[in-house]
Amino acid sequence: MPPILITGGAGFIGSNFVRYWCQKHPDAPVVVLDALTYAGNRATLADLEQQGKLTFVQGNICDRPLVDRLLRDHDIEIVAHFAAESHVDRSILGPEAFIQTNVVGTFTLLEAFRQHYSQHQRGRFLHVSTDEVYGSLGPEDPPFSETTPYAPNSPYSASKAGSDHLVRSYFHTYGLPTLITNCSNNYGPYHFPEKLIPLMCINILLGKPLPVYGDGQNVRDWLYVEDHCSALDTVILKGLPGQTYNVGGNNEVKNLDLVQLLCNLMDEMAPNLPVRPSQELITFVRDRPGHDRRYAINAGKIKTELGWQPSVTVEEGLRRTVSWYLSHEDWWKPLLSEDYQNYYNQVYGAD
Ligand code: NAD
Repeated sequence: MPPILITGGAGFIGSNFVRYWCQKHPDAPVVVLDALTYAGNRATLADLEQQGKLTFVQGNICDRPLVDRLLRDHDIEIVAHFAAESHVDRSILGPEAFIQTNVVGTFTLLEAFRQHYSQHQRGRFLHVSTDEVYGSLGPEDPPFSETTPYAPNSPYSASKAGSDHLVRSYFHTYGLPTLITNCSNNYGPYHFPEKLIPLMCINILLGKPLPVYGDGQNVRDWLYVEDHCSALDTVILKGLPGQTYNVGGNNEVKNLDLVQLLCNLMDEMAPNLPVRPSQELITFVRDRPGHDRRYAINAGKIKTELGWQPSVTVEEGLRRTVSWYLSHEDWWKPLLSEDYQNYYNQVYGAD
């Protein structure tokens, strides 16, 4: 397997992918480029670094000389691009970083890869994106497919839509072998505490209110992160340049039902909870502005054309995830910093 550059490899999905790739392709050279923003955590990769499985570079994807140097010095053939500002609520509070990293950063990587590719004529550029670019579905609408028109509603999804369009254009204009994946909501280990599932697990453990937006009836389509990683591996190995593949687990769940499921699992699996039953902690809060009502993915193309299948049911994935948060307090507790608390209070109000 040729050398791979993984951007954003210290974040949630990126780090799970690094782990997946190192296991599946043990001899492949891996370079991780990550700016270590609030969402990046080098400790997540510490064991792999110690085993000499990867080269970690702290740096920004907007830094063109750095990206040029990494592509050249490591003879990179595959770019797997995860680095992004990824949290919708933060994009509402401050959109600028989203434009910088998601749009300008992706543009910088594409330009560097274009120059690198012109000398080698081999490689692939995988852009990891989201189903949120398609906007919001009504209750009876069919799930998003690769031909659904883009209709992003948050600064986050708009910035990802912009980057998707740039990636697409580099295939059509310059013939770069680019690939795009649009995936539904992921969950699993190493997920930053601000996101719905870890937030609920951690607040239950701390006996804090469980903030549920609006009426809790918003629907998300959940995929266990390891299944996303296997989809990305499949797309890198078998995907057709210039194509987009939607990835999802066909697991539509209403937010309130998901929180109730997590409460039940925590009550069953966690000893000594401060409040039991955990459901008593559920608190409805003012809805997120522009909150998309429903996302659902039709993953038929990647299944039929590339033979990918998810393997973890939502029941099993949630159980694994709860178990991971119960046994990794040393990972998530240090992330509940003063900065995190300030952000939290801005979004949900002080407890
Ligand atoms: P994350 O926020 O957990 O991680 C992002 C990583 O990117 C962090 O390690 C951060 O330090 C790094 N980063 C941010 N800005 C950078 C910059 N300018 N230069 C270099 N590194 C930078 O995000 P995630 O949830 O792992 O998402 C990864 C990718 O997958 C994103 O592109 C996101 O849009 C996409 N995606 C996420 C989901 C989901 O459910 N989380 C679903 C579909 C697609």
